[in-house]
Amino acid sequence: MKIAVIGSGITGASAAYHLTREGAEVVIIDKAHQGQATAAGAGIICPWISRADHKDWYTIAKRGALYYPSLIANLKQDGEEDFGYGMVGALAVSSSSDELDAIEQSVRQKKAETPEVGEITRLTAEEARELYPPLREDLQAIHVTGAARLDGRLLRDAMLNGAKKHGAAIIEGEGDLVFQNNKVTGVIVNGEVIAADAVIVTAGAWAKDLLNPLGIDLKVEPQRGQIAHLEIGSMDTSSWPVVLPQSSHYLVAFDHSKVVVGATRETGSGFDYRLTAAGVKEVLDEALTVAPGLAESTLKEVRIGFRPAGPDILPLLGTVPAAEGLVIATGLGASGLTMGPYVGTLAADLALKREMEIDLSPYDPLRKGLEAGVKRN
Ligand code: FAD
Repeated sequence: MKIAVIGSGITGASAAYHLTREGAEVVIIDKAHQGQATAAGAGIICPWISRADHKDWYTIAKRGALYYPSLIANLKQDGEEDFGYGMVGALAVSSSSDELDAIEQSVRQKKAETPEVGEITRLTAEEARELYPPLREDLQAIHVTGAARLDGRLLRDAMLNGAKKHGAAIIEGEGDLVFQNNKVTGVIVNGEVIAADAVIVTAGAWAKDLLNPLGIDLKVEPQRGQIAHLEIGSMDTSSWPVVLPQSSHYLVAFDHSKVVVGATRETGSGFDYRLTAAGVKEVLDEALTVAPGLAESTLKEVRIGFRPAGPDILPLLGTVPAAEGLVIATGLGASGLTMGPYVGTLAADLALKREMEIDLSPYDPLRKGLEAGVKRN
């Protein structure tokens, strides 16, 4: 079976990797658009502490987090080593005991059915600063050990390398769908037609334009995120936990004294690939309010990414009756690094016409109720 994958962010890279491991012939097409969400993502994998409160979101985010250890093991088996992945834990921080009480209760409920949440510990402000020295002095915390972080670029590349080792071809160029008699039969790229038994569209925020010529109005739009990379002297940050304040912002530490802080969520931004004064100010203000100890760190880089934002918080994942051979997998919004690898496997299974391990109806890309336009995700 030959399958084409359009878009090689984390979702497409995973779909391709999974397909090649299943023995399919795979062609991956990517235009290398500026602002690929995967290349900008912070890398937090922690559905256990989240402001998102939706049963169907949690189902897929939880499975996404639980899929990581086996994905990493498979990639290692295929000779890939470097993902920036670490089970470093997370600190939910607040100066309000009441806020932390509510978070603790919710995390303990999740742990009751999912032991992978790990140890849950209430920390005083002083104890929190032992784990994360730059934190503000009045911030107490809940520490959860089962949270991870990763480098989206490295993981994407590892999956693409893995797919190549299993025979996948990668073509750089803009893909267009070949659509005849209500059937998607392949992709046109760089003037060449590539015939395929199925085509998976993992084109992120760009999927709308790709599907328009088929008469499919996919409700996905770019939501710009600006995110800063800091270098904090010569401190060993490799085991610092992810810090989750009570806002949409966060701090994620990596090896080599790197701390990533962000991010803006700019709904309605379009594909406007620019750093803005207000965006950079917001990101740095929020970070320094939570962790004033980062004030003297070096601002190395600010990245821009376009999250594929749907009208609600759920992915847009499934087949379309009017276009046989087409699989859509996008709309992962702010949690695509958590869900993307797992969603990629589901998209691959759809293309292979396998039985699905979860009910995908809540994620139907053309589900009812999506007419209302794109909301904040
Ligand atoms: P993308 O990564 O955007 O990839 C889409 C690809 O499709 C692109 O490479 C593009 O070039 C290609 N493409 C599009 N159209 C075509 C075409 N016609 N032909 C060929 N190629 C095409 N998620 C988390 O879980 N945790 C986080 O901590 C986190 N932090 C984030 C921080 C920021 C600043 C941002 C922007 C996002 C963050 N996310 C996070 C969300 C996550 O990064 C995204 O949801 C996820 O990366 C989306 O992956 P994707 O593969 O669907 O799309």
